[in-house]
Amino acid sequence: MTASLSFLGAARTVTGSKHLFTADGRRVLIDCGLHQERELQDRNWAPFAVTPREIDAVILTHGHLDHCGLLPRLVAQGFRGRVHCTEATAGIAPLVMADSARLQEEDARFKAKRHAAEGRRRSDGYRPLYDVEQARDAAARIMPAPWRTPVAVAPGITASFHPAGHIIGSALVRLQAGSGPAVLFSGDLGTGGSPLVEGPDTACGAPNLVVESTYGDREHDELDVPTQLSSVLAAAWRRGGNVVMPCFAIERAQEILYRLRQLHDAGRLDGWRIFLDSPMAIGVLQVFKDNPGALTPEIRQAMQAGRSPFDLPGLTLCADREQSKTINAVERGALILAGAGMCTGGRVKHHLEHNLSRADSTVLFVGYQASGTLGRQILESRGKSGVLVRLFGRQREIRCAVEQVRGFSGHAGKSQILAWAGALQPQPRRAFVVHGGENVSQAFAAELRQRFAWEAVAPEYGQEIAL
Ligand SMILES: [Zn+2]
Repeated sequence: MTASLSFLGAARTVTGSKHLFTADGRRVLIDCGLHQERELQDRNWAPFAVTPREIDAVILTHGHLDHCGLLPRLVAQGFRGRVHCTEATAGIAPLVMADSARLQEEDARFKAKRHAAEGRRRSDGYRPLYDVEQARDAAARIMPAPWRTPVAVAPGITASFHPAGHIIGSALVRLQAGSGPAVLFSGDLGTGGSPLVEGPDTACGAPNLVVESTYGDREHDELDVPTQLSSVLAAAWRRGGNVVMPCFAIERAQEILYRLRQLHDAGRLDGWRIFLDSPMAIGVLQVFKDNPGALTPEIRQAMQAGRSPFDLPGLTLCADREQSKTINAVERGALILAGAGMCTGGRVKHHLEHNLSRADSTVLFVGYQASGTLGRQILESRGKSGVLVRLFGRQREIRCAVEQVRGFSGHAGKSQILAWAGALQPQPRRAFVVHGGENVSQAFAAELRQRFAWEAVAPEYGQEIAL
């Protein structure tokens, strides 16, 4: 048998995961993600390196955009096979693809308008990368698979899904072609400390390992999230205004609700009215409620006994814009979770507009803020006075308190990835390091060679390696 791996994305970059496994003429694509780096956008528009019609199956490790976001384009260009993933990913991926399609359509309209104003015209008619209908077509090809059970994905090829601990439904994927050497794909690897999902699993090792390295050069500090959250919220309550929490819709928003419920049950939460103001986060919350089997045993048992750890008194889900606007009338005691997580768009900007210049309100960050984003600007205003930021075309002075709770992370840090890799049974002999920046992935491959004496490389974009 001849088998190979081709690295068609997230090779020496952090997004755009796309790995092609070929065995005896059969082709299975593991993840079909969007490149999110601005300078790599062209790759999303380029023809696929392999004809979509000639791919037998796609497997998704999880539902994040950089792992499933190019699937609608693959289907639009002729892919006719099944898309295999866990039940929870089958809930998340359609939400993510539909949301992305709406943004792509908006983007195309915006570009057409801007070019018209500038007297320019483009010959391709300003088509989006894909549209909502194409996202729906892609979702229709999804076929959920059970945990830890090999399923046939192509003639002679099986795949099994094992908890990865990153987000709900996220899986390590083990591929086996006939009696050939198996390959384990880490997808994105969790820290092992998530209160919501189990993993990463170590009993599913394989001779070949494709491993992510997002934080392959960094460690996470051990931080007590509940204590930080409780003290920041207590101070905000004393201040008397509202709290705006810019929040990622997948996993982080649900984890915050879970943490708030824990504080409430421990008698450590004041009388906040909590608003989850994000249709996407509300959709993801429903996926949590529909998939207790993808959550920790404690949460699963609580849910099966009719106690959802994501519900709490005073929680309002704002699905539509009108409900969102009613929050503006709340003068004090509103705790608002809204996206975008880095304040780059979405409903959170409206809540910032109402609260940024109020000395009694608080903006509370619970996630990473990339440089150049509004979130980063607000975060960096801490300890300074009179800082102005631009919001809806106007300069606003930041007078509210700006706080941060650290210690949330969806990705394993360096020693967490190494501990997981070292505990895999059976142990890998070869490793392919992906999903990390150029220097990080190269250094992490060197670390694997040195520590475990494995053959380890960071493949180049487009490289094919025989197994
Ligand atoms: Zn991810």
